[in-house]
Amino acid sequence: MILSFPNMGPNVYAFKTLFEQLDIEVVLPDPTNREAIKIGVKYSPEFVCFPFKATLGDFVSAIKKGADTLVMAIDCGPCRFGFYGAVQERLLHDMGYKNVNIIPLDQADLLDFKWVKTLQELSSKRDLFAYSKFVKAVIFFLKKAKLLSDIQTAEGLFRAYERNQGDTTKVFNTVINKLDQANTLKELRSFKNLIKEDFNTIDVDRTRTPLRVAIFGEIHISLEPFVNVDIRRKLGEMGVEIHQNLSLWDWVSHKFHLNFHRKWLEHLSHPYVPMDIGGECQWVLGEYIDRAQTGFSGCVHVYPFTCMPEVTARTIITNKLKNIYDLPIIFFSFDEHSGTEGMRTRLEAFVDLIESRRKHKLGIENISLEDDQRNFYKSNGSHFFQECFQLLQTQ
Ligand code: SF4
Repeated sequence: MILSFPNMGPNVYAFKTLFEQLDIEVVLPDPTNREAIKIGVKYSPEFVCFPFKATLGDFVSAIKKGADTLVMAIDCGPCRFGFYGAVQERLLHDMGYKNVNIIPLDQADLLDFKWVKTLQELSSKRDLFAYSKFVKAVIFFLKKAKLLSDIQTAEGLFRAYERNQGDTTKVFNTVINKLDQANTLKELRSFKNLIKEDFNTIDVDRTRTPLRVAIFGEIHISLEPFVNVDIRRKLGEMGVEIHQNLSLWDWVSHKFHLNFHRKWLEHLSHPYVPMDIGGECQWVLGEYIDRAQTGFSGCVHVYPFTCMPEVTARTIITNKLKNIYDLPIIFFSFDEHSGTEGMRTRLEAFVDLIESRRKHKLGIENISLEDDQRNFYKSNGSHFFQECFQLLQTQ
């Protein structure tokens, strides 16, 4: 058996570790590219969600590299995500890949432990030795998922201060490679320090006072840079500090009922959407309110074209929340036609707008940029974010 799974940015390395630790041979699809999207679009139903098409393209890429078993997360949620695996398997069979299976990995509630059975069946070992291996594989997966989230945090912060455009991207890619190579607990335990050391080599201008922008939205679009036209990098290279809670770690800890930040967002969004209607709708609304109350300059909402839950969130923000909280927000819906130039122009205009709003607001309140920055960092960001910020300030 040769196993594979679709791309979701660097998060594929956490899944790779999980399966390799169970002695399963893994091939990764090529990074998502035009060709994969073209294939996904060609063989998918026209009005299906864009992540369906992109992941179908990834599957074909993996099959061409030898994969015969594909893993696709499923959910019992209210939108189309629950059907991806079953429909994609039929499509692949129709395309002539008759011997390929898609194994559904149930992630509706990780505390019902259906995923344990799936992993046991995939590794086909159930003895005591396999049990300890299994625990180790899960620990490695969780540790790598958390570290990937920390790398994302550091990247979002450091890029806004880099003197030479591209330095942060280089360090980011190097650290991701090192994480992929790290396969002992000892290495993983000290990896946080390695992230800080590597990002600390970037030549930064610490006198800057960047705008602070939060990115949120549908999970596949938010985490896969090819499908979101690398929006984090583009915005970061305009000198904007990027804050993004959404990560694989954020999602997994939520599904283990350990993510209290998400509970807080659910509480904030409850008057507008009192239940999970699919996608990230509930949490997008919570994030918008939370970011408005904590001193952000603006927000970016990213989602796939035709994604019903995210369009619902957008409508509630535009018609209701924007009038109450008045935090500038820009919306990007992505599909196979999304391109760089239109997005860059809109982002530049957005950055100009939030810059002039900040000047105006601070002028009225008679607060300097430096004081505004100090107040913001006192109460925002995870512990790791604070550590990175201290590094920046003392470099
Ligand atoms: S969240 Fe949106 S894109 Fe994802 S399956 Fe549901 S409707 Fe489709």
